[in-house]
Amino acid sequence: MSFVIPAPETASVAIFGNDDRFPVHRIYCIGRNYLAHVLEMGNDERQPPFFFQKPLDALLPSGGEFPYPPGTNDVHHEIELVVAIKKGGRDILVGDALDHVYGYALGIDMTRRDLQDKAKKTGKPWGAAKAFDYAAPIAPIRPVSEIGHPCDSRIWLAVNGQLRQDSTLDLQIWSVAEGISHLSRLFEVKPGDLIYTGTPEGVGAIKPGDVMTGGIDGIGELEITVV
Ligand code: MN
Repeated sequence: MSFVIPAPETASVAIFGNDDRFPVHRIYCIGRNYLAHVLEMGNDERQPPFFFQKPLDALLPSGGEFPYPPGTNDVHHEIELVVAIKKGGRDILVGDALDHVYGYALGIDMTRRDLQDKAKKTGKPWGAAKAFDYAAPIAPIRPVSEIGHPCDSRIWLAVNGQLRQDSTLDLQIWSVAEGISHLSRLFEVKPGDLIYTGTPEGVGAIKPGDVMTGGIDGIGELEITVV
C-alpha cells in the first residue's frame, strides 16, 4: 500500500525535560469556563460547557512565531490550561476522569475576535474564528507522574511584559474532571486528545511585533512572537 500524495506527519507536542513526544489525535476547546471571562464577553454564566475543535496543524510550539493571520483586524490571546489524554472512553464519570489524564500544558487559544463576533451575530459556525493556521500555541507537556493534578495554580499572560490575564485554575466553572466527563458524552475521547479548558478574563488584541509570554505555576511558561 502506498499513499497517492505525501502523508502528513503525526502531530505531536514536546514533553518537558526530555526528547519524548505526545502524539496528538484531536484538539478540543471548552468555551466560557471562567465566570469573569463569560461576563466580559456579555454571555450568560448558567450555560453548560460547550466544545469546539482546532485542526492538528494549528499546533505551534513554545518559542515559535505566530504569523498574524489574514482576514482579520482583531486577533485575541486566550491563555488556557491544556489537558493531555492518555486513555480514551465514552460516558466517563467525573470521579474516574482524572485517571484518563497523561499530563498538563499551557496553551493559547488564538482567536479572530472580529470574525467570532460576526459569526455569533449571524448564527454561523466559529471555524474561521478559532480553527485557523497556528491558532493553538502550546508549551511542553508535564506528566501527571511528575506534577500531579494542578487545581488552584496561578494562570497568567503578558504582552510585551505587560500583564493582561491573571487568574487561578480554581475559578474554572467546570473542573478538568467535569470537562472530560461532559466531552466524553458527546465524543469518544481517545488517547492523544488535547483539551484547551477555557480562558480567564483579560483577553485582548495582539499585533505583529508583540511578544506573548504566559505561565501556569508548576506547569511552565511559554513565549510566542507575533510576526
Ligand atoms: Mn478559549
